[in-house]
Amino acid sequence: MAQLSTRQKLEILADAAKYDASCASSGTAKRNSSDGKGIGSTEGMGICHAYAPDGRCISLLKILLTNSCIFDCHYCINRRSSDVRRARFTAQEVVELTLNFYRRNYIEGLFLSSGIIASSDYTMEQMVEVARSLREDHDFRGYIHLKTIPDADPALLNLAGLYADRLSINVELPTDSGLKRLAPEKDGGRIEGAMGHLRGEIDDKIDAKRKYKSAPLFAPAGQSTQMIVGADAADDRAIIAKASSLYDRHKLRRVYYSAFSPIPSPSAVLPLKRPPLMREHRLYQSDWMIRFYGYDAREIAAATDAATGCLPLDIDPKLAWALNHRAAFPVDVNRAPREALLRVPGLGVKAVDRILMSRRHRRLRLDDVARLTTSIKKLRPFLVAADWRPVALIDRADLRARLAPPAKQLDLFT
Ligand code: SF4
Repeated sequence: MAQLSTRQKLEILADAAKYDASCASSGTAKRNSSDGKGIGSTEGMGICHAYAPDGRCISLLKILLTNSCIFDCHYCINRRSSDVRRARFTAQEVVELTLNFYRRNYIEGLFLSSGIIASSDYTMEQMVEVARSLREDHDFRGYIHLKTIPDADPALLNLAGLYADRLSINVELPTDSGLKRLAPEKDGGRIEGAMGHLRGEIDDKIDAKRKYKSAPLFAPAGQSTQMIVGADAADDRAIIAKASSLYDRHKLRRVYYSAFSPIPSPSAVLPLKRPPLMREHRLYQSDWMIRFYGYDAREIAAATDAATGCLPLDIDPKLAWALNHRAAFPVDVNRAPREALLRVPGLGVKAVDRILMSRRHRRLRLDDVARLTTSIKKLRPFLVAADWRPVALIDRADLRARLAPPAKQLDLFT
Protein backbone atom coordinates (compact mmCIF):
# COMPACT_ATOMS: atom_id res chain seq x y z
CA MET A 1 0.00 0.00 0.00
CA ALA A 2 1.50 3.38 -1.03
CA GLN A 3 2.27 5.89 1.73
CA LEU A 4 -0.74 8.15 2.06
CA SER A 5 -1.21 11.27 4.12
CA THR A 6 -3.86 11.29 6.84
CA ARG A 7 -5.99 13.55 4.64
CA GLN A 8 -5.75 11.13 1.70
CA LYS A 9 -6.64 8.21 3.94
CA LEU A 10 -9.57 10.17 5.33
CA GLU A 11 -10.80 10.90 1.81
CA ILE A 12 -10.73 7.21 0.88
CA LEU A 13 -12.02 5.77 4.14
CA ALA A 14 -14.77 8.31 4.72
CA ASP A 15 -15.99 7.78 1.15
CA ALA A 16 -15.92 3.99 1.62
CA ALA A 17 -18.03 4.34 4.78
CA LYS A 18 -20.85 6.15 3.00
CA TYR A 19 -22.48 2.85 1.98
CA ASP A 20 -23.28 2.14 5.59
CA ALA A 21 -26.78 3.45 6.27
CA SER A 22 -26.93 2.73 9.95
CA CYS A 23 -25.95 6.26 10.85
CA ALA A 24 -27.17 7.91 7.70
CA SER A 25 -27.20 11.60 6.98
CA SER A 26 -29.18 12.48 3.93
CA GLY A 27 -31.69 14.87 2.52
CA THR A 28 -29.76 18.07 3.12
CA ALA A 29 -28.52 20.52 0.49
CA LYS A 30 -24.81 20.77 -0.22
CA ARG A 31 -23.45 24.04 1.15
CA ASN A 32 -20.02 25.27 2.11
CA SER A 33 -18.22 28.48 2.84
CA SER A 34 -15.14 27.89 0.68
CA ASP A 35 -15.95 30.99 -1.40
CA GLY A 36 -15.46 33.13 1.68
CA LYS A 37 -19.17 33.76 2.13
CA GLY A 38 -21.03 32.55 5.14
CA ILE A 39 -19.85 30.10 7.73
CA GLY A 40 -20.01 26.32 7.98
CA SER A 41 -20.39 23.41 5.60
CA THR A 42 -22.65 20.41 5.11
CA GLU A 43 -19.87 18.54 3.33
CA GLY A 44 -17.40 17.86 6.13
CA MET A 45 -15.37 14.88 4.98
CA GLY A 46 -16.42 11.83 6.94
CA ILE A 47 -18.96 13.68 9.06
CA CYS A 48 -22.49 12.36 9.17
CA HIS A 49 -25.49 12.98 11.35
CA ALA A 50 -27.23 10.42 13.47
CA TYR A 51 -29.83 10.41 16.20
CA ALA A 52 -28.66 9.71 19.74
CA PRO A 53 -30.81 7.52 22.00
CA ASP A 54 -32.27 10.66 23.61
CA GLY A 55 -33.45 11.91 20.19
CA ARG A 56 -30.76 14.59 19.68
CA CYS A 57 -29.24 14.87 16.22
CA ILE A 58 -25.49 14.48 16.61
CA SER A 59 -22.54 14.73 14.21
CA LEU A 60 -20.32 11.69 13.94
CA LEU A 61 -17.00 11.04 12.32
CA LYS A 62 -17.96 8.10 10.11
CA ILE A 63 -15.01 6.18 8.75
CA LEU A 64 -13.59 2.75 8.07
CA LEU A 65 -10.43 1.55 9.74
CA THR A 66 -9.54 0.10 6.34
CA ASN A 67 -11.28 -0.53 3.04
CA SER A 68 -9.12 -3.60 2.39
CA CYS A 69 -10.97 -6.84 2.99
CA ILE A 70 -10.19 -10.51 2.73
CA PHE A 71 -13.87 -11.26 1.95
CA ASP A 72 -15.45 -10.91 -1.45
CA CYS A 73 -19.08 -9.93 -0.93
CA HIS A 74 -20.43 -9.15 -4.41
CA TYR A 75 -22.36 -6.02 -3.44
CA CYS A 76 -19.47 -4.35 -1.61
CA ILE A 77 -17.12 -1.81 -3.11
CA ASN A 78 -14.43 -2.87 -0.63
CA ARG A 79 -14.50 -6.55 -1.55
CA ARG A 80 -11.21 -8.36 -2.21
CA SER A 81 -11.63 -8.36 -5.99
CA SER A 82 -12.68 -4.70 -6.25
CA ASP A 83 -10.32 -2.39 -8.08
CA VAL A 84 -10.37 0.56 -5.67
CA ARG A 85 -7.66 2.60 -3.98
CA ARG A 86 -6.97 1.07 -0.58
CA ALA A 87 -6.04 2.78 2.63
CA ARG A 88 -5.71 1.86 6.25
CA PHE A 89 -5.62 3.81 9.47
CA THR A 90 -3.86 2.56 12.53
CA ALA A 91 -5.95 2.48 15.69
CA GLN A 92 -3.87 5.38 17.01
CA GLU A 93 -4.56 7.48 13.91
CA VAL A 94 -8.32 7.02 14.34
CA VAL A 95 -8.02 8.00 17.99
CA GLU A 96 -6.10 11.19 17.12
CA LEU A 97 -8.45 12.08 14.29
CA THR A 98 -11.48 11.64 16.54
CA LEU A 99 -9.96 13.74 19.30
CA ASN A 100 -8.91 16.50 16.87
CA PHE A 101 -12.35 16.70 15.30
CA TYR A 102 -13.96 16.57 18.72
CA ARG A 103 -11.81 19.36 20.18
CA ARG A 104 -12.70 21.55 17.22
CA ASN A 105 -16.35 20.85 17.87
CA TYR A 106 -16.87 19.26 14.45
CA ILE A 107 -18.23 16.03 15.89
CA GLU A 108 -19.85 14.57 18.95
CA GLY A 109 -18.79 11.01 18.35
CA LEU A 110 -17.35 8.28 16.17
CA PHE A 111 -18.92 5.65 13.91
CA LEU A 112 -16.27 3.08 13.07
CA SER A 113 -16.53 0.16 10.69
CA SER A 114 -13.90 -1.83 8.80
CA GLY A 115 -13.10 -4.31 6.09
CA ILE A 116 -11.65 -7.51 7.47
CA ILE A 117 -7.88 -7.36 7.80
CA ALA A 118 -6.10 -10.73 8.16
CA SER A 119 -8.83 -12.21 10.38
CA SER A 120 -12.07 -11.27 12.10
CA ASP A 121 -10.39 -11.38 15.52
CA TYR A 122 -7.47 -9.17 14.49
CA THR A 123 -9.82 -6.58 12.96
CA MET A 124 -12.09 -6.58 15.97
CA GLU A 125 -9.06 -6.18 18.26
CA GLN A 126 -8.04 -3.06 16.34
CA MET A 127 -11.52 -1.56 16.55
CA VAL A 128 -11.80 -2.32 20.25
CA GLU A 129 -8.38 -0.71 20.75
CA VAL A 130 -9.68 2.54 19.20
CA ALA A 131 -12.65 2.60 21.57
CA ARG A 132 -10.53 1.53 24.57
CA SER A 133 -7.92 4.19 23.98
CA LEU A 134 -10.54 6.90 23.51
CA ARG A 135 -12.30 5.97 26.75
CA GLU A 136 -9.39 4.95 28.98
CA ASP A 137 -6.40 6.97 27.74
CA HIS A 138 -8.30 10.14 26.85
CA ASP A 139 -11.44 9.97 28.98
CA PHE A 140 -13.50 10.50 25.81
CA ARG A 141 -17.15 11.01 26.77
CA GLY A 142 -18.53 11.30 23.22
CA TYR A 143 -20.71 8.77 21.41
CA ILE A 144 -19.09 5.65 19.93
CA HIS A 145 -20.80 3.28 17.51
CA LEU A 146 -18.77 0.22 16.54
CA LYS A 147 -19.75 -2.02 13.68
CA THR A 148 -18.85 -5.43 15.02
CA ILE A 149 -17.71 -8.51 13.17
CA PRO A 150 -19.94 -11.50 13.78
CA ASP A 151 -17.15 -14.08 13.45
CA ALA A 152 -14.96 -12.39 16.06
CA ASP A 153 -14.32 -14.02 19.42
CA PRO A 154 -17.27 -13.29 21.76
CA ALA A 155 -14.76 -12.01 24.34
CA LEU A 156 -13.88 -9.21 21.89
CA LEU A 157 -17.56 -8.38 21.37
CA ASN A 158 -17.88 -8.18 25.15
CA LEU A 159 -15.02 -5.73 25.34
CA ALA A 160 -16.50 -3.67 22.48
CA GLY A 161 -19.76 -3.35 24.41
CA LEU A 162 -17.96 -1.99 27.47
CA TYR A 163 -16.54 0.94 25.49
CA ALA A 164 -19.14 1.62 22.78
CA ASP A 165 -22.56 3.22 23.15
CA ARG A 166 -24.00 1.22 20.30
CA LEU A 167 -22.92 -1.97 18.55
CA SER A 168 -24.23 -3.16 15.22
CA ILE A 169 -23.85 -6.27 13.13
CA ASN A 170 -25.01 -6.16 9.53
CA VAL A 171 -27.41 -8.94 8.64
CA GLU A 172 -26.81 -7.78 5.04
CA LEU A 173 -29.54 -9.69 3.18
CA PRO A 174 -32.97 -10.89 4.24
CA THR A 175 -32.64 -14.51 3.15
CA ASP A 176 -30.01 -17.21 3.64
CA SER A 177 -30.10 -17.99 -0.07
CA GLY A 178 -29.35 -14.33 -0.88
CA LEU A 179 -26.48 -14.33 1.59
CA LYS A 180 -25.03 -17.55 0.14
CA ARG A 181 -25.19 -16.15 -3.35
CA LEU A 182 -23.90 -12.62 -2.71
CA ALA A 183 -21.75 -12.99 0.40
CA PRO A 184 -20.60 -16.62 0.32
CA GLU A 185 -18.06 -16.17 3.12
CA LYS A 186 -20.72 -14.93 5.53
CA ASP A 187 -22.99 -17.19 7.47
CA GLY A 188 -26.52 -16.19 8.51
CA GLY A 189 -26.42 -18.52 11.52
CA ARG A 190 -23.20 -16.96 12.84
CA ILE A 191 -24.52 -13.43 12.27
CA GLU A 192 -27.65 -14.15 14.28
CA GLY A 193 -25.61 -16.08 16.85
CA ALA A 194 -23.51 -12.95 17.46
CA MET A 195 -26.66 -10.81 17.71
CA GLY A 196 -28.08 -13.27 20.24
CA HIS A 197 -24.84 -13.09 22.20
CA LEU A 198 -24.99 -9.27 22.29
CA ARG A 199 -28.62 -9.37 23.37
CA GLY A 200 -27.69 -11.70 26.25
CA GLU A 201 -24.84 -9.39 27.33
CA ILE A 202 -27.02 -6.28 27.12
CA ASP A 203 -29.78 -7.94 29.20
CA ASP A 204 -27.30 -9.27 31.78
CA LYS A 205 -25.65 -5.90 32.24
CA ILE A 206 -29.03 -4.16 32.60
CA ASP A 207 -29.93 -6.69 35.32
CA ALA A 208 -26.59 -6.20 37.03
CA LYS A 209 -26.98 -2.42 36.91
CA ARG A 210 -30.36 -2.70 38.62
CA LYS A 211 -28.76 -4.64 41.46
CA TYR A 212 -25.39 -2.89 41.71
CA LYS A 213 -24.97 0.77 40.90
CA SER A 214 -21.29 0.25 40.11
CA ALA A 215 -21.90 -2.47 37.46
CA PRO A 216 -20.53 -1.37 34.07
CA LEU A 217 -22.83 -0.39 31.23
CA PHE A 218 -22.84 -2.50 28.08
CA ALA A 219 -23.72 -0.85 24.76
CA PRO A 220 -26.31 1.39 26.48
CA ALA A 221 -27.71 2.50 23.11
CA GLY A 222 -28.35 -1.16 22.21
CA GLN A 223 -27.65 -2.93 18.93
CA SER A 224 -28.82 -2.30 15.40
CA THR A 225 -28.43 -3.85 11.97
CA GLN A 226 -28.63 -3.03 8.29
CA MET A 227 -30.22 -4.83 5.34
CA ILE A 228 -29.49 -4.17 1.70
CA VAL A 229 -32.62 -3.76 -0.42
CA GLY A 230 -32.74 -4.70 -4.08
CA ALA A 231 -29.39 -6.50 -4.46
CA ASP A 232 -31.15 -9.87 -4.53
CA ALA A 233 -34.62 -11.05 -5.47
CA ALA A 234 -36.09 -10.88 -1.94
CA ASP A 235 -39.41 -9.03 -1.91
CA ASP A 236 -40.64 -6.61 0.76
CA ARG A 237 -42.59 -9.36 2.50
CA ALA A 238 -39.36 -11.31 3.09
CA ILE A 239 -37.55 -8.15 4.21
CA ILE A 240 -40.29 -7.13 6.66
CA ALA A 241 -40.58 -10.67 8.04
CA LYS A 242 -36.82 -10.79 8.62
CA ALA A 243 -36.77 -7.36 10.28
CA SER A 244 -39.67 -8.28 12.53
CA SER A 245 -38.05 -11.53 13.62
CA LEU A 246 -34.79 -9.67 14.39
CA TYR A 247 -36.65 -7.15 16.54
CA ASP A 248 -38.39 -9.96 18.42
CA ARG A 249 -35.46 -12.29 18.90
CA HIS A 250 -32.59 -9.89 19.47
CA LYS A 251 -34.33 -6.77 20.78
CA LEU A 252 -32.70 -4.59 18.15
CA ARG A 253 -33.10 -0.86 18.53
CA ARG A 254 -33.25 -0.30 14.78
CA VAL A 255 -33.17 -2.12 11.49
CA TYR A 256 -31.75 0.18 8.81
CA TYR A 257 -32.41 -0.30 5.12
CA SER A 258 -29.98 0.59 2.42
CA ALA A 259 -31.21 0.60 -1.17
CA PHE A 260 -28.59 -1.25 -3.19
CA SER A 261 -26.58 1.24 -5.20
CA PRO A 262 -24.57 0.01 -8.17
CA ILE A 263 -20.84 0.17 -7.45
CA PRO A 264 -17.94 0.75 -9.84
CA SER A 265 -16.79 -2.49 -11.58
CA PRO A 266 -19.80 -4.45 -10.30
CA SER A 267 -19.95 -8.21 -10.09
CA ALA A 268 -21.96 -9.88 -12.87
CA VAL A 269 -24.45 -11.34 -10.37
CA LEU A 270 -25.72 -7.91 -9.30
CA PRO A 271 -28.66 -6.09 -10.82
CA LEU A 272 -27.66 -3.28 -13.17
CA LYS A 273 -30.09 -0.77 -11.70
CA ARG A 274 -30.69 0.45 -8.20
CA PRO A 275 -34.20 -0.13 -6.79
CA PRO A 276 -36.37 3.00 -6.54
CA LEU A 277 -35.38 5.00 -3.45
CA MET A 278 -39.10 5.13 -2.64
CA ARG A 279 -38.91 1.39 -1.92
CA GLU A 280 -36.44 2.06 0.90
CA HIS A 281 -38.73 4.84 2.18
CA ARG A 282 -41.79 2.55 2.18
CA LEU A 283 -39.83 -0.06 4.14
CA TYR A 284 -38.91 2.57 6.72
CA GLN A 285 -42.60 3.48 6.97
CA SER A 286 -43.46 -0.18 7.54
CA ASP A 287 -40.76 -0.26 10.22
CA TRP A 288 -42.54 2.62 12.02
CA MET A 289 -45.83 0.77 11.72
CA ILE A 290 -44.32 -2.18 13.59
CA ARG A 291 -42.48 -0.13 16.20
CA PHE A 292 -45.02 2.61 16.93
CA TYR A 293 -48.41 1.74 15.45
CA GLY A 294 -48.96 -1.80 16.70
CA TYR A 295 -48.96 -3.71 13.39
CA ASP A 296 -47.25 -7.07 13.08
CA ALA A 297 -45.26 -8.31 10.10
CA ARG A 298 -48.15 -10.44 8.81
CA GLU A 299 -50.46 -7.45 8.77
CA ILE A 300 -47.94 -5.42 6.81
CA ALA A 301 -47.54 -8.32 4.40
CA ALA A 302 -51.28 -7.87 3.77
CA ALA A 303 -50.51 -4.38 2.46
CA THR A 304 -48.11 -5.70 -0.19
CA ASP A 305 -49.01 -6.38 -3.79
CA ALA A 306 -50.13 -10.00 -4.20
CA ALA A 307 -48.14 -10.46 -7.42
CA THR A 308 -44.83 -8.75 -6.53
CA GLY A 309 -44.78 -9.17 -2.75
CA CYS A 310 -43.70 -5.52 -2.51
CA LEU A 311 -45.31 -2.50 -0.87
CA PRO A 312 -46.97 -0.11 -3.29
CA LEU A 313 -44.76 2.84 -4.16
CA ASP A 314 -47.52 5.35 -4.88
CA ILE A 315 -49.28 5.17 -1.49
CA ASP A 316 -47.93 4.63 2.00
CA PRO A 317 -48.25 1.17 3.60
CA LYS A 318 -50.70 2.33 6.28
CA LEU A 319 -53.11 3.58 3.63
CA ALA A 320 -52.54 0.39 1.61
CA TRP A 321 -53.44 -1.70 4.66
CA ALA A 322 -56.55 0.38 5.37
CA LEU A 323 -57.75 0.04 1.77
CA ASN A 324 -57.37 -3.73 2.03
CA HIS A 325 -59.21 -3.83 5.39
CA ARG A 326 -62.15 -1.52 4.85
CA ALA A 327 -64.35 -3.48 7.24
CA ALA A 328 -62.25 -2.06 10.11
CA PHE A 329 -63.39 1.50 9.19
CA PRO A 330 -64.72 4.08 9.68
CA VAL A 331 -63.66 4.54 13.31
CA ASP A 332 -65.29 7.08 15.58
CA VAL A 333 -62.80 9.74 16.61
CA ASN A 334 -64.83 10.39 19.78
CA ARG A 335 -65.06 6.78 20.97
CA ALA A 336 -62.47 4.52 19.32
CA PRO A 337 -59.59 3.14 21.40
CA ARG A 338 -56.05 4.39 20.77
CA GLU A 339 -55.09 1.24 18.80
CA ALA A 340 -57.94 1.76 16.32
CA LEU A 341 -57.17 5.48 15.88
CA LEU A 342 -53.52 4.68 15.20
CA ARG A 343 -54.65 2.69 12.17
CA VAL A 344 -56.43 5.62 10.54
CA PRO A 345 -54.37 6.76 7.53
CA GLY A 346 -53.07 10.27 8.10
CA LEU A 347 -53.17 10.13 11.90
CA GLY A 348 -49.76 9.99 13.55
CA VAL A 349 -48.91 9.05 17.12
CA LYS A 350 -48.84 12.68 18.30
CA ALA A 351 -52.17 13.46 16.63
CA VAL A 352 -53.79 10.42 18.24
CA ASP A 353 -52.50 11.38 21.67
CA ARG A 354 -53.86 14.90 21.25
CA ILE A 355 -57.24 13.53 20.12
CA LEU A 356 -57.39 11.36 23.25
CA MET A 357 -56.63 14.40 25.43
CA SER A 358 -59.08 16.74 23.68
CA ARG A 359 -62.03 14.39 23.58
CA ARG A 360 -62.09 14.20 27.35
CA HIS A 361 -63.44 17.73 27.30
CA ARG A 362 -65.64 17.89 24.19
CA ARG A 363 -66.86 16.02 21.14
CA LEU A 364 -64.45 16.49 18.24
CA ARG A 365 -65.57 17.71 14.82
CA LEU A 366 -63.81 17.07 11.52
CA ASP A 367 -62.22 20.53 11.64
CA ASP A 368 -60.64 19.71 15.00
CA VAL A 369 -59.02 16.63 13.49
CA ALA A 370 -57.98 18.56 10.36
CA ARG A 371 -55.84 20.80 12.52
CA LEU A 372 -53.82 17.77 13.63
CA THR A 373 -53.03 16.29 10.23
CA THR A 374 -51.52 17.35 6.94
CA SER A 375 -54.06 15.45 4.83
CA ILE A 376 -57.71 15.56 5.81
CA LYS A 377 -58.55 14.20 2.35
CA LYS A 378 -56.76 10.93 3.15
CA LEU A 379 -58.46 10.65 6.49
CA ARG A 380 -62.08 11.48 5.68
CA PRO A 381 -63.20 8.05 4.37
CA PHE A 382 -61.88 6.32 7.48
CA LEU A 383 -63.23 8.49 10.28
CA VAL A 384 -66.50 9.43 11.98
CA ALA A 385 -66.60 12.77 13.83
CA ALA A 386 -69.33 14.74 15.63
CA ASP A 387 -70.31 16.41 12.34
CA TRP A 388 -69.01 13.91 9.79
CA ARG A 389 -69.93 10.42 8.61
CA PRO A 390 -68.39 9.12 5.35
CA VAL A 391 -71.58 7.74 3.83
CA ALA A 392 -70.61 5.01 1.33
CA LEU A 393 -67.21 6.66 0.79
CA ILE A 394 -65.33 3.74 2.31
CA ASP A 395 -67.01 1.28 -0.11
CA ARG A 396 -66.25 3.15 -3.30
CA ALA A 397 -64.45 1.07 -5.90
CA ASP A 398 -62.36 4.09 -6.93
CA LEU A 399 -61.31 5.04 -3.39
CA ARG A 400 -57.67 4.10 -3.98
CA ALA A 401 -57.49 6.22 -7.12
CA ARG A 402 -59.06 9.16 -5.26
CA LEU A 403 -56.50 8.99 -2.46
CA ALA A 404 -53.31 8.18 -4.41
CA PRO A 405 -51.28 11.19 -5.49
CA PRO A 406 -51.73 11.98 -9.19
CA ALA A 407 -49.33 10.09 -11.46
CA LYS A 408 -46.45 12.22 -12.74
CA GLN A 409 -45.50 12.44 -16.39
CA LEU A 410 -42.13 10.69 -16.74
CA ASP A 411 -39.30 12.52 -18.42
CA LEU A 412 -38.12 10.66 -21.52
CA PHE A 413 -34.52 11.58 -20.92
CA THR A 414 -34.00 10.82 -17.23
S1 SF4 B 1 -16.92 -8.37 4.80
FE1 SF4 B 1 -17.75 -6.30 4.79
S2 SF4 B 1 -16.13 -5.02 3.95
FE2 SF4 B 1 -15.61 -7.13 3.44
S3 SF4 B 1 -16.43 -7.46 1.41
FE3 SF4 B 1 -18.00 -8.15 2.84
S4 SF4 B 1 -19.32 -6.37 3.19
FE4 SF4 B 1 -17.40 -5.61 2.25
